[in-house]
Amino acid sequence: MTQHFIVVGGGMIGLASALGLRRQGHRVTLVEQGDAPSYSDETELRVSAIAHHSRALLTELGVWQNLPAERLGPYTAMEVWDHDSFGRIAFAANEVNQTDLGAIIENRVLETHLWQAAADAGVELLAQTAVQNHKVSTDEVSVEAGGQRIRGDYLVAADGVNSPLRQAAGLPLTFWDYQQQGCVAVIRCSQPHNGCARQVFLPTGPVAWLPLADPHHVSLVWSADTEFAQQLQQLDDSDFIKQLQAVSDQCLGQLELASTRAYFPLRMQYAKRWLQQRLILIGDAAHSIHPLAGQGANLGFGDVHDLLTVTATEFTSAELRHWERQRKVAAVQMIATMESFKRGFGNAWPVPKLLRGIGLRLADRIAPLKRALIKSALG
Ligand SMILES: Cc1cc2nc3c(=O)[nH]c(=O)nc-3n(C[C@H](O)[C@H](O)[C@H](O)COP(=O)(O)OP(=O)(O)OC[C@H]3O[C@@H](n4cnc5c(N)ncnc54)[C@H](O)[C@@H]3O)c2cc1C
Repeated sequence: MTQHFIVVGGGMIGLASALGLRRQGHRVTLVEQGDAPSYSDETELRVSAIAHHSRALLTELGVWQNLPAERLGPYTAMEVWDHDSFGRIAFAANEVNQTDLGAIIENRVLETHLWQAAADAGVELLAQTAVQNHKVSTDEVSVEAGGQRIRGDYLVAADGVNSPLRQAAGLPLTFWDYQQQGCVAVIRCSQPHNGCARQVFLPTGPVAWLPLADPHHVSLVWSADTEFAQQLQQLDDSDFIKQLQAVSDQCLGQLELASTRAYFPLRMQYAKRWLQQRLILIGDAAHSIHPLAGQGANLGFGDVHDLLTVTATEFTSAELRHWERQRKVAAVQMIATMESFKRGFGNAWPVPKLLRGIGLRLADRIAPLKRALIKSALG
C-alpha cells in the first residue's frame, strides 16, 4: 500500500530518502527551509568521503552515474600516521581487490543532483519553506509550513544535527562535546595527491587532506581542540598555512589556501529514540559523529538503505522498530570506534604513544589484519 511521506530537510540524507521512497511508488513531499541546491565552478568547502555501500545506494537511485566526473575524487590509497611517534599505516585499494576505497564529493554537488533526480521522479519539493510545527498521532502526521498544513502518513525528520523536529518532539539525546572544532578549506598542493587520502594525528586532533578531482587540490579537515582551533581562527592566511605546512610532514609539498576557511563545532550526539509513533529520525537528526573517519553521511545513507528495505512492501510498526534497533547498533558501534581513535591518538603520554606506534607498524605489516582494517575503512 502506498503511503504519503513528508520529509523535512533537503540535505543529502533527506533527499536520498525522498527519492528512494518515491521510486517505491509512495507519495513524497520534501520541505526544505533553504534554497534548492546549486553549485558553481568553484570547489565547495564541505565535502564527504563516500563509502562503497553509500555509492551502491546512490547508483541504485540513478544519481551516482550522473555526477560530473570532474567533481569526483576517487581515492585509491590511504595513509595514516602519528605526528609524534614512528607509527604509520598505508592502505591501497588493490590489497582488497578494489579499484578504489571510495570517492570524495562536494556535498552541494551531490545535493544538487539528488534534488534534480527527486524532481524528475515526482517528489513534491518545497524549497524556502520552513516547518514551523508538526503533529504526530497514531494514524496520521501533519506539518505547518509556508502558511499551509500538509497531512501525510509518516514524517521523516532529516533536518540535521540541531533537528527542530526532534527537539519539538522532546526526544532525548545522549551527547558529549568533543571540545574540538573542525576547520575546512580547499588547499592547493605543489605535489600531486595521487588519489591518496592522508591523515595525521596530532595530540590536539587529526588533520586530513582528502584528494579532489584536480590532482593538485585537496580538501582540508583539521579537527582541533577548541582553544587551539580558536588560535588557528585568529591567524591570517599566511600564518595559518605555515602552521599547516609544519604539521603536514611535507606529504604534499608546498601548500597554499585556495578558498576561505570555515569552522564547525564537533559534537557526538545520538537520539535515544529514533521513532515516535509516525515520526522517524534519520541522518544527523538521529546521530552525529567525529569527522575523523569521514563516516557521518555514510551512516545516514545506511539509515536510508535499511529504511527503504522496510518500506519496499507493506510494513508494520514492529518492522520500523526493528529498523530503529538495527540502526542504533550501527551508530553506537561507529561512535565507539571514533571515540577509541580519538582517545588513543589524543594522548601525548610516552607509553600510549609507544603502543600506538607499535600497533600501527604491526597492523601495516600483518597482511590479514591490514586487510580487515581496509575492509572496515570501506564501510
Ligand atoms: C567538518 C566535517 C567533515 C565531514 N566529513 C564527512 C565525510 O568525509 N564523510 C561523511 O560521510 N560525513 C562527513 N561529515 C558528516 C556529514 O557532513 C553529515 O553527516 C551530513 O551532511 C548530514 O546530512 P543530513 O542530510 O542528515 O543533514 P544536513 O545536511 O544538515 O541537512 C539538514 C537540512 O534540513 C534543513 N532544515 C532544518 N530545519 C528545517 C526546518 N524546520 N524546515 C525545513 N528544513 C529544515 C536544513 O536547511 C538542511 O538543508 C562531516 C561533517 C563535518 C562537520
